[in-house]
Amino acid sequence: MSDVAFAVDLGGTNIRGAIVNRTGEIKHFRTVRTAVRGGVYAIIDQIVQLAEDVFDEYGSRLTAGVGVVAPGPLEPRAGIVRFAPNLPGWENVPLSRLLEERLQMPVVLGNDGNCAALGESMFGAGKHVDNLIYLALGTGLGAGIIHQGQLIEGIAGLGGEVGHVSIDPNGSRCTCGGIGCMEAYIGGWAIARHGEMAVHSERSSLIREIAGDDRITAEVVAKAAQQGDAAAIDIFARGGRALAVGIGGLVNVFNPELIVIGGGLARAGDLIFEPFRSSLPHYTMLPIYQHIAIVPSALETNTGVYGAAANVFYQLPDRMTSS
Ligand SMILES: [Zn+2]
Repeated sequence: MSDVAFAVDLGGTNIRGAIVNRTGEIKHFRTVRTAVRGGVYAIIDQIVQLAEDVFDEYGSRLTAGVGVVAPGPLEPRAGIVRFAPNLPGWENVPLSRLLEERLQMPVVLGNDGNCAALGESMFGAGKHVDNLIYLALGTGLGAGIIHQGQLIEGIAGLGGEVGHVSIDPNGSRCTCGGIGCMEAYIGGWAIARHGEMAVHSERSSLIREIAGDDRITAEVVAKAAQQGDAAAIDIFARGGRALAVGIGGLVNVFNPELIVIGGGLARAGDLIFEPFRSSLPHYTMLPIYQHIAIVPSALETNTGVYGAAANVFYQLPDRMTSS
């Protein structure tokens, strides 16, 4: 069995590819701007080229397998990308099969949240920790749960969708179609929407001032909050409390040792963390709460690549023995 995986991250505007070993060293790293207008096959060609370049540098094609991480929704077991928000035209693409045919290697596909949870538990902030909840505060609320060393996947590999746990039966409509999901309070898109609402209802003028003629984003609302805008501070405070309600429930179910928080919006720091930390004890049983530490991600910009590699090391031995 090989000690390395070839890891591919399809999130963001670039394709990132690397050889990663079992101790979490990135051996060879390459990135290329995603040919989004070229369609599915142009991007497959880019991944194959990236792989060949990295294998040449590494001097070998011997790997435990290829891991691909993509933003959802996916069908990880079937290796199908149902839809990719950053890849226009991608609908029901059998990505694993297409790449296996071209690369002649086993390919495992995983969603960004679940893979990142595996990455943190193998290489990052949760190294040697068997019970953790990983949260990615980004455009949405990505997540993954590791329980007793196992990734919570469910019957179709779709489990761990923490961001779409509802916390309010009368809450806002989420992008998933659900009502009152945590993501509808703390996802970047929700923070931006609440910022727009604060401007329209004239509760904040600073948010519009900072955005200028541009769109109101979560970053804009964060800046306004950092400058003392009461409406913006309240948006983050409500988001942090919403997170505490949903995560508190999961903490009671899973009794984790760690909550690892990553994603771009985590840079808003105490705007979110303070209300989250101070609210969490109200929604968690005390003996369970006493065992939890809340820590930042240790993988940051390479989370996708580490997650894709971790998914290979986690999934492939099982597949080999079960087939
Ligand atoms: Zn939802």
